[in-house]
Amino acid sequence: MVLVRKGEGGITLFSRKKSLEEIPEENTDVWSCQNPECKGWMRANFAFDTIPNCSLCQSPMIKGNKQLPPIANFSNDWKSNKKDERTII
Ligand SMILES: [Zn+2]
Repeated sequence: MVLVRKGEGGITLFSRKKSLEEIPEENTDVWSCQNPECKGWMRANFAFDTIPNCSLCQSPMIKGNKQLPPIANFSNDWKSNKKDERTII
């Protein structure tokens, strides 16, 4: 049962299902503080050219990965889907 009809019911079902399910986390580039006693980190969506300093302890940060939910993508996706449905109606 996928994509039977595109309408308001479809939108509701779609968004409700998505919010109930766990949002899949994706491997995200991050800067991690190199100080083992510090838990500072930040997303590396920007500033990959220059090595940032940790905002907590001012140590240089190292490039790494974290499993993070793609929040920004999710919200954009949701908006564009809603728009599409409206256009079709
Ligand atoms: Zn730090």
